[in-house]
Amino acid sequence: MKRSCSAVIGSIRKPGLFLLLTLCFQNISFTQIQPETPSPEQKIVRREATRLPAKVQVATMEQRVLSGWGGGKAEDVVPKAAEIGFAELVVHHEDSTNFARFIELGKQRGMGIYAWLFLGDIPAWKKAYPDFEPPLQVMSATEDEALRRIQADKTPGKSRYQFGGEPVNEMEVLETPLLCFHDPRVIEAFKKQIDEMLNFPGVKGVALDYIGYRNYRSCLCQTSRLQFAVYQEQHPELSRELALDRFSLETLVAFNNRLSAYVKTVSPAAQVITHIYPVYLPEPLYGNRLNLDVCVQTAAWFFDPFWNTNKIKAYARVIAQEANRYHSRPHGAALIGYGKYPVKSGARLTAELQAILDGGCTRVHVCSLNDVLNTPEAAQVFRRFFGNPNGKNAAGK
Ligand SMILES: [Zn+2]
Repeated sequence: MKRSCSAVIGSIRKPGLFLLLTLCFQNISFTQIQPETPSPEQKIVRREATRLPAKVQVATMEQRVLSGWGGGKAEDVVPKAAEIGFAELVVHHEDSTNFARFIELGKQRGMGIYAWLFLGDIPAWKKAYPDFEPPLQVMSATEDEALRRIQADKTPGKSRYQFGGEPVNEMEVLETPLLCFHDPRVIEAFKKQIDEMLNFPGVKGVALDYIGYRNYRSCLCQTSRLQFAVYQEQHPELSRELALDRFSLETLVAFNNRLSAYVKTVSPAAQVITHIYPVYLPEPLYGNRLNLDVCVQTAAWFFDPFWNTNKIKAYARVIAQEANRYHSRPHGAALIGYGKYPVKSGARLTAELQAILDGGCTRVHVCSLNDVLNTPEAAQVFRRFFGNPNGKNAAGK
């Protein structure tokens, strides 16, 4: 503010000077009484902008790994995906014939297939506990009101609703109901599902998704409240707000890690990957706290407004370079969203993928796989970045 004021002051004559100085001082005092508190997102972008450039080597085609999350008929999807350069696919296993076919066709092309586990899977609950109501996450009255507003919004872009990504509007919540993982029965239901998933011969592993909070912070159901009360008693030094953030994050991390450990007990060779979603607002890039094989964190979200490339690069750097801050096992991977509304142009996709690679992240996951396969312009961009002229896929070797 000061610099811009003095530059202007030097170029004007006296009659206007007093008025301009008054306006400047008003602005200065305004910023003094309302200091800006940077959001977790702004902190990441600013820190990465001032950090010394890392020795990021340009990733060769062979070092890059592309994975896709989607579905469809194995016969339609696998050959097309292989041609573009996909090394791994994440698909649902409910249709067991189709899932087995995915594995079979994937194997012929050196492509790994993961079964998709998600916290909103009410049928998985009902299968495990047919006589009990699913223990769903509970939100505050204000958050429920925000949910009703979002559900009632039928405009094409839903007024910039971000569907579980970092919100741009004042208050957002996830439309999809999620199970409360503080209820000890929930992990038991998913353990049964993991048994089922790993029973498919040749499956590469399990991909976790939607493991988070519907209001992006915490759950307010009776079970969660009781467990939080115990946590508060154990941490009297923390304010209520900080204690709730820590309780929510620690239990979220623990749930992921318990699922991951369980997969290894069933099949030590099986891989565990996860996409950090929905966003956890107090710490958007918490994924490196998870002890699994690949942690996918969002680097370029789906919707308007598209993330600027500085942010994409900053997030990609954190995702790749801090992947082993807490555990030696995980690889970091960047998620790029690609969907029907609004459609990203080829130039936009190219800029986003380049920013991810410039940030030093060589593993890229895209959702939705099917939108990429069905849009020639998008398919061409991904093929240019990941297509291997020899027809081999990096992770399938
Ligand atoms: Zn709960």
